[in-house]
Amino acid sequence: MADKTLVSFFLDDVGPYATGVPGREKELVPVDAAALTEFMEFLKDRGLAGAVSVIPGWADSLLTRPKNDHERKFAEALATIKDYPIDPHMEIMTHGTLFDFSKMAPADDDRNEMDWLDDHSVSLDECRDYFLGTIKVGRELGVCYTGMTTPGTHPQMNPNVWESLLDLAEAGEFPSEAVPAFVTIEEGPNTFEPRAKVTRDQFAVYDMPSGVWDHIASWRNSPDWNSSDHYLDADGNGHLAAIIKAESPVAIFHMHWQGLNPQTGLGWKTFVEMIDRLMSIYGDRIIWAKPSEIAANFNRKRVG
Ligand SMILES: [Zn+2]
Repeated sequence: MADKTLVSFFLDDVGPYATGVPGREKELVPVDAAALTEFMEFLKDRGLAGAVSVIPGWADSLLTRPKNDHERKFAEALATIKDYPIDPHMEIMTHGTLFDFSKMAPADDDRNEMDWLDDHSVSLDECRDYFLGTIKVGRELGVCYTGMTTPGTHPQMNPNVWESLLDLAEAGEFPSEAVPAFVTIEEGPNTFEPRAKVTRDQFAVYDMPSGVWDHIASWRNSPDWNSSDHYLDADGNGHLAAIIKAESPVAIFHMHWQGLNPQTGLGWKTFVEMIDRLMSIYGDRIIWAKPSEIAANFNRKRVG
């Protein structure tokens, strides 16, 4: 029998506020901690596993210094991630403006993290310091980051980003010797496995792309991007199905909190329907695993 496909996901942009709420599209609308807990309980009940971005400075808030009860409760829910089959990923400190860790406030310069990741003049030391700053804020929140998700996609990312993550793994700042990163979306090829971008002895950083565009309402929280059929239809065909049918070692998809969350997201029902369909049609051909487990699995084979 063919090996089963390891399935996982990345959930991006998780924070106490979301945009794209119908009628209030541009506004930052509060999303309660209960919505995050509902999602995590669903994963546990159904035996799923994946990664969730934890962005301490999302939408100009700073979750280590919550400015209201809503943010405090959300921060407390993030600290329970360790009780679920979930990897917390840094999607960098703010997902927006660069952060000044010496002042614990947004930096004065108007560069943002997306541009910074692609700026090849940013030094290895600067990358390492910035990631370490984020890792320490994560610890303050009770979150132990296992890997990184980039805000936006970065096929030409600064190589110092990969190198600095490797340095941090070697320094014991990540819980595993193999660090997964979600940097690109590559829908089309039907087989995937983690790609070691940089290695040093038993340490490695793995590029682990999503193989399916987000149709769980997406970051737009839009009905135009809301379709379980995109993943797999009732006949078992679709982009996620194609990867599993090709007996790919790994199949990873990604979603966004704006579209997925059970409180304001238009995609929650779509997600549940997609999971029901996936488990009934392909349940015996897949194994759910966290990205860190998948990276560790391939790293063991690499090291031998
Ligand atoms: Zn994002």
